[in-house]
Amino acid sequence: MEKKNIDWSNLGFGYIQTDLRYVSNYKNGAWDEGTLTSDSMITISECAGVLQYAQTIFEGLKAYTTEDGHIVTFRPDLNASRLADSAKRLEMPVFPEDRFIEAVEKVVEANAAYVPPFGSGASLYLRPYMFGSSPVIGVKPAEEYQFRIFCTPVGPYFKGGAKPITIRVSDFDRAAPNGTGHIKAGLNYAMSLHAIVSAHEEGFDENMYLDPKTRTKVEETGGANFLFVTKDNKIVTPKSDSILPSITRRSLVYVAKEYLGLEVEEREVLFDEVKDFAECGLCGTAAVISPVGKIYDHGKEICFPSGMEKMGPTTQKLYETLTGIQMGKIEAPEGWIKVIK
Ligand SMILES: *Cc1c(COP(=O)(O)O)cnc(C)c1O
Repeated sequence: MEKKNIDWSNLGFGYIQTDLRYVSNYKNGAWDEGTLTSDSMITISECAGVLQYAQTIFEGLKAYTTEDGHIVTFRPDLNASRLADSAKRLEMPVFPEDRFIEAVEKVVEANAAYVPPFGSGASLYLRPYMFGSSPVIGVKPAEEYQFRIFCTPVGPYFKGGAKPITIRVSDFDRAAPNGTGHIKAGLNYAMSLHAIVSAHEEGFDENMYLDPKTRTKVEETGGANFLFVTKDNKIVTPKSDSILPSITRRSLVYVAKEYLGLEVEEREVLFDEVKDFAECGLCGTAAVISPVGKIYDHGKEICFPSGMEKMGPTTQKLYETLTGIQMGKIEAPEGWIKVIK
């Protein structure tokens, strides 16, 4: 297979249209058989549920080339089950989890020429999503839905090394108690746009959201979960019903315990404790871990001992072990790596 003529190591994180995407429609209570299509456009009713009442959910995962030349994805079964959880919360039909994994395989195979070569640091980002496509004017769930997966090649997240970022404690909330913070829905992102744009305007890379009820506990950022390292080298990660269950965070917790022999605490984390931690990182599919060097809290700064030049040593070890597992350099736990070809 001839790869596309793309400057892989200079790719950013943007949409580049590829050859084929997967689509399946839900109508009269059933999903159709689904197909690959070259048509990147969607035509739906002007009154579609997604357009009027934001009935849409999504996932994000990557396909990439391992050291031995295979194209693989990382734990797509967890994306399938998380999409199912998101669907139930927004009264949408579940796209069967085995069919989700098959659709991922089909899209990656069909666009194999867009999967960046090993060593480029780039990957093929897959975006599964589902939305209410039939007209809805009185507030209720749509009757018809579309499930799709497209893909787009994306560049290495860190060009020239992972530099620690500066985040601020946000005055906006991300998720309400008993709301939708735990599902991957577009609506959680729409309401975060103002907070992130204003954070950028004020010179911060990201927002740290606290729990909206008491504003004393750490939740997450707009699109990544927190991992902290204590001064005696334990891993601490916030637990809350309104945090999105990051697959990267869950994988890093396993790696910390089973590969690095570290103690891990998954529990409520008070913001007051944060100043005592040694390291802080954000975890998500895009970067695996982005180190946080500094947190700005209304005129006060928390500066982690790991500094603004590089990742802290434990964060670095976690990062290297998980990316080593993903790239086939370190043996993966059973079922983590799905070989596509
Ligand atoms: C997607 C997402 C994450 C990261 O999840 P991964 O499965 O690790 O990519 C974290 N927080 C939010 C709010 C998200 O939407």
